[in-house]
This record gives sequence, C-alpha cells and structure tokens, in this order.
Amino acid sequence: MAIAAAPLLAPRTARAQNDVDPAMASQRQALRVLLGHGDAAAVSADRFTLDGRLYRGTFQRQDDGSIVNLVDLEEYLYSVVSTEMPARWPPAALQVQAICARTYVLQRSDPRRNYDLVPSELDQVYGGVTAETAGATSAVDATSGEALAFAHAFASVAYSSCCGGHTESSADAWGNAALPYLGGVPCPWCIDSPNYRWQRSLAFDTLTQRLTRALPPASRVQDLRIEARDASGRARAVDVVTDLGDANVPGSLFRRSVGARVVPSLLIGSVARTPDAAAVAIDGNGLGHGVGLCQWGARGMALAGRSAAEILSFYFPGTDLQHLT
Ligand SMILES: [Zn+2]
Repeated sequence: MAIAAAPLLAPRTARAQNDVDPAMASQRQALRVLLGHGDAAAVSADRFTLDGRLYRGTFQRQDDGSIVNLVDLEEYLYSVVSTEMPARWPPAALQVQAICARTYVLQRSDPRRNYDLVPSELDQVYGGVTAETAGATSAVDATSGEALAFAHAFASVAYSSCCGGHTESSADAWGNAALPYLGGVPCPWCIDSPNYRWQRSLAFDTLTQRLTRALPPASRVQDLRIEARDASGRARAVDVVTDLGDANVPGSLFRRSVGARVVPSLLIGSVARTPDAAAVAIDGNGLGHGVGLCQWGARGMALAGRSAAEILSFYFPGTDLQHLT
C-alpha cells in the first residue's frame, strides 16, 4: 500500500506534542469502500451480499453502477486485519496490525471524494465477513479507537511483510518528503520469515521481455549490476547491460517490471551471471517495500514479550499511540 502526505495542524500548547486535533479525532462517520460492480442484495438491516460474499453495513449504488459499502470503521478492520496478517500470530502483533490499519484509514479519509478506500493492496485488502477471523476481531476490539499520531495529525503508516533486516525510508522508497518516523530502522526481529533470505535465478530472455520499455530498442539483456544503493542497502538503480548498451533503471521500476514474485524486495545482495551466461543468480532479503512496520518483525517482537505499544514505537519512532473517543 502507498501513503499520502499527512495534513499538519498547528500545535496547541494545551496539548501534548503529538496529540491529534480533537476535530480530526471526532470524525466517526461510516467508511465508504468502493467494492466495484456486481450483484448486491440486502440480507438484513446491516448485512448484504455482493456476488455471494457477505459484508457488514449497507451499500449504495453509484451512478456508474459500482457498489460502495458503507461500514463502521471497527467492523471494516475485522476483515482487514484478518487478511493482512495470519490469525494465528500473537495477539500483540495482531493488535499492532489493527492500530496501523485504523491509522491508515483515519489519515486518508477525505469527505471530498465519493469513496474512502478500495478493497485491495492499493489501500488495504478487505474481504467482508467471509474473511474475518476470531484472532483479528479480538485484536481490533482490544485496541478499539487507538491510532498513531504525530505532530497533531494521524501518522502516515505503511507496512509490509518482512524488511529483511532494515526497514526502508519512505523518502527513498517513494520520493516524498522525509518523515522523521519513517526514516528506516535496523530490524533484528524478522529472521523467522521464509522470505528473510531468498535466492532467485532470472533468465536473460525473461528480463529482456519484462524490461523491454526501459531498454534500447531490440536490445537483449546480458548482465545486471546494482548501480546505486540507498541508506538501507536497497537497490536505488540497476544497471541493465545489453548488447546495445547499458540502461540505468530505477530500482522501483525494475522490481515493478520484473515482478515482485521474482524480486521479492530491493534489498538485493549479490548478483552473478550463471555459468551458461543465460541468467543471473541474485540473492536478497525481505519481502515488500520495507517502509514502516515489518510484519514479521512485529511477530518476532510479540513472541519476545513486547507489547503493541512497544512494537509501534520501535517501527514508528517519535509517534504517540492515542485513544480517540
Ligand atoms: Zn524486519
């Protein structure tokens, strides 16, 4: 998921440094989730189905026929936390996920748009009642109304699966203004992730196909080199060597073009041509963009007995956990 710039509000001396402005804290209207087109039917006053999938709340049909789900924030979170983190993970990790997901929504909601969120990775994955789990529901209820704040506004939170040893700065990942609590931290907590360390072989034919728009016309990939790295060690630029010259490809474009399954993260270690010169073998650490919360790290900290508040202050240093009334 991506983040948007947080609105900054003028500090008021009567409140603590990071307290959210009370006007923002009291906005508790129904969320509007754009579900898309399909057959919607009410099953009760506060449940409906869309193409057979059960949702909480009510729905409205837009002028273009698409369905918007009007749902209470906390009930929306039951489903989101269930799909964004395994229900068997420790309660403190699920509580961290609930607080991050809630903060993400509060920071983004904008009454000027005709919906707040889409139900995919573009925002947060939301699958209605069908996706809900008991572990996630308990975590949402245990943290009801809690959100992360910074400088009198909701914090801009982000999360991804496994940082691979160091979280990424949002400015390096997305080129937006640096946020002090998203600068990146060393993370020793995610080594149990199956993606903590990975190895891949990338065939030059496949790279030629997938990178074609970034390469000289009709060229063929012959090698890769990491051209530049950012402070966390992630590849900022990849030098793609072809038979017709080199192309300097930004790291984010490289990963997007080649595919996140093939390149799980930009924390790439070594790159070496295979002996048959038909592919490169690469290895690296982590899965995802690495900004903000490391979900496997939250699991590791929770298993070590850390509380949700301790985990959040580790990954988002300088923010405050606030309870909205
Ligand atoms: Zn980590």
